[in-house]
Amino acid sequence: MKQLSVAIIGSGPAGYTAGIYTGRAKLNPTLFAGEEMGGQLMFTTEVENFPGFPEGIMGPKLMDNMKKQAERFGTQIVPKFVTAVDFSQRPFKLWSSVPEGVLVTDLIRMSTDEYLRVAQKIKQTEADYTADSVIIATGAVAITLGVPGEKEFMGRGVSVCAVCDAAFFKDKKVYVVGGGDAAMEDTLALTKFAKEVYVIHRRDAFRASKVMQERVLNHPKVKVLWNSEVKEVAGEMMLNKMKVVTKDPQTGKIVKEDWLEADGLFLAIGHRPVSNLFADQLKLDSHGYVLTRKSLSEAGLKLAQAAVDYGLIAYPSMTSVEGVFAAGDVVDVRYKQAITAAGQGCEAALDAERWLEDSRG
Ligand SMILES: Cc1cc2nc3c(=O)[nH]c(=O)nc-3n(C[C@H](O)[C@H](O)[C@H](O)COP(=O)(O)OP(=O)(O)OC[C@H]3O[C@@H](n4cnc5c(N)ncnc54)[C@H](O)[C@@H]3O)c2cc1C
Repeated sequence: MKQLSVAIIGSGPAGYTAGIYTGRAKLNPTLFAGEEMGGQLMFTTEVENFPGFPEGIMGPKLMDNMKKQAERFGTQIVPKFVTAVDFSQRPFKLWSSVPEGVLVTDLIRMSTDEYLRVAQKIKQTEADYTADSVIIATGAVAITLGVPGEKEFMGRGVSVCAVCDAAFFKDKKVYVVGGGDAAMEDTLALTKFAKEVYVIHRRDAFRASKVMQERVLNHPKVKVLWNSEVKEVAGEMMLNKMKVVTKDPQTGKIVKEDWLEADGLFLAIGHRPVSNLFADQLKLDSHGYVLTRKSLSEAGLKLAQAAVDYGLIAYPSMTSVEGVFAAGDVVDVRYKQAITAAGQGCEAALDAERWLEDSRG
């Protein structure tokens, strides 16, 4: 069993930044990079809003730079997925094995209950690592439609981030799928650039807040396709059309099916934080986001208040378990940007450093 001072789980901007800071603090961090090293930005092309790159930078290049910078300060990058954790006592235990017949890729897709059953099995074996402190930076996954063509055209017309990509759609015809506040925000962001913005919603009313709905419904560039769903996206090099069906809200029967011309399709149907691994170890909010003492969700505020009451707020990025910190999209219900994830990775690293010093006396 290998003993670690700081274990960082996740290799996106939050994890690598935590690696840079804990490495420079001479804490000899070990970063578990997972199956898809580099995180979400490995799946995009140009990143135009990360400070320091006035001409923009390709997502994979940015992540490779962060990895090298973390390694430069001594971060050990281990290309393994952490498959189970035990935070019930210190030092914390971590496993990276899977039971026979189970693949890591299966773990990623499992429901929380299925996952916890497998984790129980894993924990019957000896842990692979112990760690004095852990920084969780496992990110989130944007929920997609799962329709033909969607994966192929991701980053080539299909986007899960309007804040990131709206500016690429100047004078274009774009569609937003969703009906919540995020979809309304994305729609309004797109109206600043696109010529026409259509919202595709599978029901006959939005569930977004009234004020956001009104802004969208009253905007001259926006039209709504109610009771409608995207069934396929297609194109050549770039997305150029998609199949949309409209259903009768009473019977659910398809009343219309069209291939519509489209330059862009923005999915705003939510994110799934990658937190199954911690479901029985840490406090999570009702959507699975890991709660920290300064979480932005309502449940997080309660945790923060409890921490203040006990004089504990000193480590804002600490989770419900002392010595375990969290950063990036796995805690962030609101911003989900590379720069905010990196900033939170920095916070978690500074908190972990200070906590290790304080707890070692
Ligand atoms: C297509 C796309 C384009 C985007 N474009 C932009 C943009 O232009 N600008 C911008 O600011 N933001 C952009 N974003 C958002 C940005 O990528 C995220 O906000 C950011 O990557 C979050 O960083 P993170 O470190 O929290 O997590 P992630 O980037 O999600 O990385 C988490 C990593 O942890 C790994 N992991 C998970 N579980 C484990 C485990 N148990 N063991 C080991 N490893 C694990 C995952 O495999 C993953 O590699 C984009 C997102 C997408 C999907």
